[in-house]
Amino acid sequence: MKKILKFGGSSLADADSIMQVASIIKQTLQSGAEVYVVVSAMAGVTDKLTGIGKDAMKGGSTEDKLGELIDIHEDVILRLGLDSDFELVRSFGNLSTLLSETINQCPGATDDFAMWNDELLSFGERLSARIITAYLNKTGKEAETLDAREVILTDTNYGNAYVYYQKSYDRIRVYMMNREKLQVITGFLGSTEYGTTSTLGRSGSDYTASIFGAALNVSEIQIWTDVDGILTANPGLVDDAISIPQLTYEEAMELAHAGAKVIFPPTMIPALYKQIPIVIKNTFNPSAPGSRIGQDRVLNGAITVGLSSVSHVSLIRLQGAGMVGVKGINARLFTCLAEKGISVMLVSQAFSEHSTCFALNPSEIELALAAIEAEFENELSLKYIDKIRVESDLSLVAVVGEGMQTTPGIAGIIFEELGKAMINVEAIAQGSSRRNISFIVRDQDVQTAIRALHKRLFERKTA
Ligand code: ASP
Ligand code: MG
Repeated sequence: MKKILKFGGSSLADADSIMQVASIIKQTLQSGAEVYVVVSAMAGVTDKLTGIGKDAMKGGSTEDKLGELIDIHEDVILRLGLDSDFELVRSFGNLSTLLSETINQCPGATDDFAMWNDELLSFGERLSARIITAYLNKTGKEAETLDAREVILTDTNYGNAYVYYQKSYDRIRVYMMNREKLQVITGFLGSTEYGTTSTLGRSGSDYTASIFGAALNVSEIQIWTDVDGILTANPGLVDDAISIPQLTYEEAMELAHAGAKVIFPPTMIPALYKQIPIVIKNTFNPSAPGSRIGQDRVLNGAITVGLSSVSHVSLIRLQGAGMVGVKGINARLFTCLAEKGISVMLVSQAFSEHSTCFALNPSEIELALAAIEAEFENELSLKYIDKIRVESDLSLVAVVGEGMQTTPGIAGIIFEELGKAMINVEAIAQGSSRRNISFIVRDQDVQTAIRALHKRLFERKTA
């Protein structure tokens, strides 16, 4: 039985957690499974590297932050009792050279920046993978690091590269032939056809695990983190949030897109294609069953599986008598937003066609208003469209569950609870998949809303 075990940054926070990771790997090997390990950078390292990149671009000094980063890794190397003069030290050397070269060059063009920034970010995973490899070797399990840049091929969209699946799968399979040692694979990284380093998007190591899983036809992809799986709600908002035992790929995707920080959404693509289950487990509580994401789940009365929310969003409302029955308003609206690279988080248009509203990140409000005013200049001056309204300090809430597709009354329950809690709903949308009912409330009401819904939908009634 082949398994991928992926460990995120929170599982690689210090020497103790790395020892724990090694013991999980060994136990899985002892159970007879064939194991492939994928690792993220150590906790906080990618953030620090991102900060260094920004400073370097501005021409500022990077020495202090670089020193901090070197200390974090060297401290762990020391605590794990590893030989500190191995290749790792050379990696640090490369990192300083890269930075000094870059600073001298003063990269002006954004494309150049994105390209060398990915090279810079890659050090996080390259270092953590080497440390874990060295520790496994030291403690009796022969292992070697696989720098995923050797096998994962991407386009040049640095920072968020698109993976060429088939070519990557082929290379992975060829690479893995006749490998005796345990492979410790760097998450998050790929390379382009020009040989430059690319990254798959923040939190992209989950995705790496899934790509390897699909290439190697494993029977399970385990994502090890620091919580007991995917929770029914954000534990910061609801004390009684519990781990969801089973969910479908679609449910996991809906929750992840709606702000639940559980799994990097593209991770679902290769796993779904090969129907490989993904299991989310807690490194610090390995006996907890975690959450299992797969093709089917037993509904078992669980019509909904979870709630998620994103706060501090804004809403733009466009309305006017001149919009009714006019073709192309929505097309023009969303095209002009897309041209400015603005991402829309929720859309709602009522049947009257008299108004359309959409939610977006508040930092994009000005850009969005300028784009809409330019696009609809004519309609606005003729008063076909009224003044554009902006509302802020709002939260999006999503209720997710496969069972809602076929069960009547869920929307009724949701809005009844909100009504009882005296919460005003600003806008509503149901995902076309019918697995997601989303609505908008004021930031100040979001906790009350989520608590009320959690109580009604998830908490076991005690008689
Ligand atoms: N180290 C990368 C990040 O922090 C990738 C990952 O952790 O999955 O975004
Ligand atoms: Mg991470």
